[in-house]
Amino acid sequence: MAVIESILKGYPIGLIYFNQVSENNLEVLDGQQRITSVGRFVTDKFAIKDENGMEQYFGGMAKDKKAKILETKLLIYECEGTESEIKEWFRTINIAGVPLNNQELLNAVYSGPFVTLCKEEFSNSQNANIQKWSAYVSGSANRQDFLERALGWVSKDNIGDYMSSHRNDKNINELKTYFSSVIDWVSTVFIDVENEMRGLEWGRLYETYHKKSYNPKKISEEVHKLYGDPYVKSRKGIFEFILGGSTDTKLLNVRVFDDATKKSVYKIQTTKAEKKKESNCPLCALGHDANNEKIWSLNDMDADHVASWSKGGATSAKNCQMLCKTHNRAKGNR
Ligand SMILES: [Zn+2]
Repeated sequence: MAVIESILKGYPIGLIYFNQVSENNLEVLDGQQRITSVGRFVTDKFAIKDENGMEQYFGGMAKDKKAKILETKLLIYECEGTESEIKEWFRTINIAGVPLNNQELLNAVYSGPFVTLCKEEFSNSQNANIQKWSAYVSGSANRQDFLERALGWVSKDNIGDYMSSHRNDKNINELKTYFSSVIDWVSTVFIDVENEMRGLEWGRLYETYHKKSYNPKKISEEVHKLYGDPYVKSRKGIFEFILGGSTDTKLLNVRVFDDATKKSVYKIQTTKAEKKKESNCPLCALGHDANNEKIWSLNDMDADHVASWSKGGATSAKNCQMLCKTHNRAKGNR
């Protein structure tokens, strides 16, 4: 709509870049949205508001206005050359003041029937699937973010290689199928959509976990429980934590004991140990080597959850014990 208004006011609508694909074939590199807008407007797909606030379709416009639109001169660049020349060229120019991102560059370098089909599917903001995809993939269709994710997932992050070997393909079936498998899997396993799901490495998670079976209802309860847990600092980690069987608490970045708690627990433990002539690390005290009477300094110890956090143990002084660093590490971050 803004494009049509700009044209009617005689404002420039910016450079449009084409890529020479073959002798008689050009591909839009930048300007797809603007070209599509004009095309849809002159075929009466949408209306604009005129200066009186009235809806105005192209078909019903005054002759001079119609002519103004149809005779608009566009400033167009046609880019051609070897792959490395094109790449170099695009590294140095800015399109619409924004540097080309990596996927846009790759689209230019590997232009051809495959990229054209890719863009129709993944870079088309009219695609009704975009809304669903946006729950799991961040970015925008215009800047090729969905395409980049789809290619990254199917190629295990070897996007350039994949585009190069599929460059002349006349279909994108494998890409489409794989992308929908990932999206369908996520949306089946996790029935609720949470903000933190956007932009996670769903391709990797799909590869690692899609053969396991999950109970979506139970999973949903677990997600809600962890979302409500004040000790969970990393909500992004909740999904992989659950997929992996709820054991790797590192993913959740669980809140640790504060210094005051550690200090006071250390003091109590050490006083008791000195009386009993045993180590102030309760696990060292159980051992049979020289360390079983060792009194560690506070700096040589770490706080540990007596009842592990993952089994409901709280991060409070009552559930805190100090262990020497070696024993704490051996017990693991549970
Ligand atoms: Zn110890």
